Amino acid sequence: MNYQGKKAAFYTLGCKLNFSETSTIAGALKEVGFERVGFDEKADVYVINTCSVTNQGDKASRNIIRQAVKQNPQAMVVVVGCYSQLKPGEAGNIEGVDLVLGTQEKFHIPAHLGDLSKRPATEIITTRLADIKSYHKAFSWGDRTRSFLKIQDGCDYYCSFCTIPYARGKSRNDSVENTVKEAQKAVEKGYKEVVLTGVNIGDYGKTTGENFLELLKALEQVKGLYRLRLGSIEPNLLKDEIIELVAASTVIMPHFHIPLQSGSDEILSLMKRKYSTGLFEKRIQQIRSIVPHAFIGVDVIAGTNGETVDLFQESYDFLNRLEVSQLHAFTYSERSGTQALKIPWKVDISDRKRRTQMYINLSEKKLRAFYQKHLGTEQTVLFESQKKGTNMSGFTENYIRVETSLRDELINELQKIRLKDILPNGHANFEFI
Ligand code: SF4
Repeated sequence: MNYQGKKAAFYTLGCKLNFSETSTIAGALKEVGFERVGFDEKADVYVINTCSVTNQGDKASRNIIRQAVKQNPQAMVVVVGCYSQLKPGEAGNIEGVDLVLGTQEKFHIPAHLGDLSKRPATEIITTRLADIKSYHKAFSWGDRTRSFLKIQDGCDYYCSFCTIPYARGKSRNDSVENTVKEAQKAVEKGYKEVVLTGVNIGDYGKTTGENFLELLKALEQVKGLYRLRLGSIEPNLLKDEIIELVAASTVIMPHFHIPLQSGSDEILSLMKRKYSTGLFEKRIQQIRSIVPHAFIGVDVIAGTNGETVDLFQESYDFLNRLEVSQLHAFTYSERSGTQALKIPWKVDISDRKRRTQMYINLSEKKLRAFYQKHLGTEQTVLFESQKKGTNMSGFTENYIRVETSLRDELINELQKIRLKDILPNGHANFEFI
C-alpha cells in the first residue's frame, strides 16, 4: 500500500537502543510514502517506542500514548517497544490505541496499517518470548550529532531484578561484516561519532561465532569514522584485551560505561550478577593503569531487596574508594515476574530514595574531581546540535562536556581546545587552540 501524502510522528522513550530502532522503523514508513513530522504536530499515524525498564518507564510510556491519542483522535496510534512486549494488555487497554506490536513485529508496521482507519478494537500482535529470534539492524539518524549504532539485541543473563530478557529475547547479533556496513552507512550520512548500543554488547558474537574484540577491530577501520564510543558493557565481559585495544586506539574513545549495580558481594549474588566487587575493582585498576585519563561511568541501583543498612554502607564505601568519574544511580523498582520479588527483605521506598540521593551526591563529587584533574589539558571536542538555547556543547574524547555560545559553523566539527575552568552548571569552559 502507498501512503504518499500521509504523515507519521514518532516518540521514543528509554535507551539508546530504542532511539536507533525508531530511526529504522521511521525508515520503513518513509519507504511506503509517509512524511516524518514532529510528535507535537498533527499526523495520520503516531508510533510510540516504549520503555519498561522500571515502573517509571511504564508510567511515562502510558502518558505519551495518551498524549498521542489527544493530539489527533482520528489518527492511528501504534505502540511498540518493551512495554508492548511485556504488558500488551495494559497498553491495549489505553483508550484510542489501535495497534500493539511486540518485539518481533515492530519492524513491520506498514504491513499492519491497512487504510489507516481507526480500529473498532485494539489489535495486539506479539510473539512468544522463545520465538523471538530475528535480528534487525539499526542506527539512529536525523535528530542528533552522534549516531547510536545497534550491534546486539536481547540478553541471556536474567539478573534477578531485570525484565529486559523477557522483553527482548535471547542474545543475538548480525555478522561483523554487516555491522561494519551499517557503521559505514552512518558515516555516509555525515556522522563523525558512532556510539555502540545493544542490550548486552559485550556478548556480541553469540549467534555468529564472532566476538566483541573482533568487531571493535573491524569498526576501527571504517573510513571517515573519527570516533567510536562504547555503550554499557558488563564487567565480566570487559576483557583486558578490550581495555588494551582502547588504550592503543585513536578511534575508540577513552570512555567506559560499566554497570556495577551494587558494591556489596552479597547483593551481587542476590542480583545473580556474574562478577564480584574484586573483579570490578581489578577492571578499574586495569583501566586507570593503561588509560589513566579515561572517563568511567558506573551504574548502581539503590534499595534492592535484601539491601540492609550495612550492605548499603558496604556498597557506598566500595564506590567511594573507586577512582571512577560518575555514577548513574537508579532507585530499585519491583518488576513483575522477576526473581528479586522472592527476596523477603524489602527496603522502604523513602529509604531507597535517600540512598539514591547519597549516590547522586557522591557522583557529583567524583565528576567534579574528574573535570578538575583535566583542567589545563589540550583536548578535541565534537560540537553537537542543540534543540534550543543560544549555547552549544560537545564532549571531549574522555567525555568531558564543554559549553560555549552557539556557532552554527562548528556543529558536528572536531575542534582543538584547552580546558580552562568549570562553569556554574558543571560543564567545562575552554579556549580554542
Ligand atoms: S545483563 Fe542483567 S541487567 Fe543487563 S539486560 Fe541482561 S538481565 Fe538485564
